[in-house]
Amino acid sequence: MNSDRLLNLFPKPMTTNRRHFLKLAASSPLFLSTACTSNLNKNFTAHIVIIGGGFAGATAAKTIKLLAPDLKVTLIEKNRHYFTCPASNWVLGGFKTVDSLAIDYHQLSSRYSIHVIHDSAIDIDPVKQSIQLQQGRTLNYDRLIVSPGIDFNWQMIEGYHPGFENIIPHAWQAGEQTRLLQQQLLTMPDNGLIILSIPENSYRCPPGPYERASLIAWYCKRHKPKTKIILLDHKRAFSKQTLFEQAWRKHYGYGENGMIEWHSITDNPVKSIDAKNKVLETDFGDRFKADVINYIPPQCAGLIAQKSGLTDESGWCLVNPLTSESKLQPNIHVIGDAAEMTPLPKSAFAANSQAQACAFAVVSLIKDLPLADPLWMNTCYSLITDDQAISVALVYTLNNKGAIEQVKGAGGVSQDTRTEALQMEAKFARHWYDAIIQQSFN
Ligand SMILES: Cc1cc2nc3c(=O)[nH]c(=O)nc-3n(C[C@H](O)[C@H](O)[C@H](O)COP(=O)(O)OP(=O)(O)OC[C@H]3O[C@@H](n4cnc5c(N)ncnc54)[C@H](O)[C@@H]3O)c2cc1C
Repeated sequence: MNSDRLLNLFPKPMTTNRRHFLKLAASSPLFLSTACTSNLNKNFTAHIVIIGGGFAGATAAKTIKLLAPDLKVTLIEKNRHYFTCPASNWVLGGFKTVDSLAIDYHQLSSRYSIHVIHDSAIDIDPVKQSIQLQQGRTLNYDRLIVSPGIDFNWQMIEGYHPGFENIIPHAWQAGEQTRLLQQQLLTMPDNGLIILSIPENSYRCPPGPYERASLIAWYCKRHKPKTKIILLDHKRAFSKQTLFEQAWRKHYGYGENGMIEWHSITDNPVKSIDAKNKVLETDFGDRFKADVINYIPPQCAGLIAQKSGLTDESGWCLVNPLTSESKLQPNIHVIGDAAEMTPLPKSAFAANSQAQACAFAVVSLIKDLPLADPLWMNTCYSLITDDQAISVALVYTLNNKGAIEQVKGAGGVSQDTRTEALQMEAKFARHWYDAIIQQSFN
């Protein structure tokens, strides 16, 4: 990203009046920690419980403790280790390991006095304001933040059965799934066929499938150069399309005679997958016998959100963008991928940004302080080779109708496609990864 784009990332608070500046600054955690330790002490120990310790939940827990150390914060996370989806495609490219994606919760609990419970939340009672955990405990809350990430709509294809993803990995939640997909790539024949099925919107990480195709191609170009990668996409256009297509043409060959081929199949969606024989069939009867099928299913909010009446027919959780409070259940906030906050994408950066805004709102509501207008940011880097990347960066705010909109002129997609510029973006991508982990979990 060039320096103009970096500068453009920020709306222009410096030229506006002091009130506007304070509103923007109020969504910065640094500002909040000073403001809150000095102004928010109103002798009230509320209990805030957070379900899900991903980018959204971990950031919310940490930010609340930074803002108001007197509040009691409990984080419920079912796994002892969290594997980041960001950088999981790098594993498929062969230049990162699955183990290096793992994060534990030690820093969050010891540094910020967050009570971390490793268990699954199986039920929420919004009337009693309590949560049932799988291992038998019940917790009461004053405010609840639900951030369980995504779940999958398997019923969209015929052939799904329990254990299906152990043969046909989605690798859209990182860890064992990433390992399995990598293993399949390593063991497939030299002239193998890989099919990537990509869902329609909305889903986690809009540019993720195309970064994946690029990095699988990067691996194959070196180790299995006769490979064919076919992308079957359930939409007509995709994020950073021109930049991706340019990169594919340059590095891997694109189209019928290249390594990567992309097809929009909106009118001819994937109908069935025979997992045992690795055969995928579409509605019109097109059949692909592949060596590796990476079926990325359509998605919805994590199961606990669905079970607790937080989702509507879209499968996502409707929230008031000002506070992230659910429109369907009082005193429950939803953040991260599970929340419907269009046009904000479902990304780790956006989840981190939403979590900070939500933490401020929750503390303000508990302490009976005025709410600040939130400001959200997102930057998505996508590696196209091991050392080149492209990016999209945008800033979002609330308009006067209370809806989220992009700040005009702030951010954009990569403009400079010279090799040196793309190499610089890859360096930014690696720094971004370290920084978001630091900011969310440490
Ligand atoms: C291949 C890939 C690449 C990506 N790359 C990027 C990138 O470069 N940049 C970027 O910004 N984003 C990227 N993303 C998107 C990013 O991973 C998600 O947007 C982000 O993880 C969302 O965070 P979250 O906290 O909402 O959900 P999650 O990260 O999924 O966290 C949810 C957590 O909740 C826990 N949980 C769920 N239900 C329960 C329950 N009932 N009880 C207890 N715990 C529960 C889960 O175990 C999990 O730890 C990528 C995604 C993919 C798939």
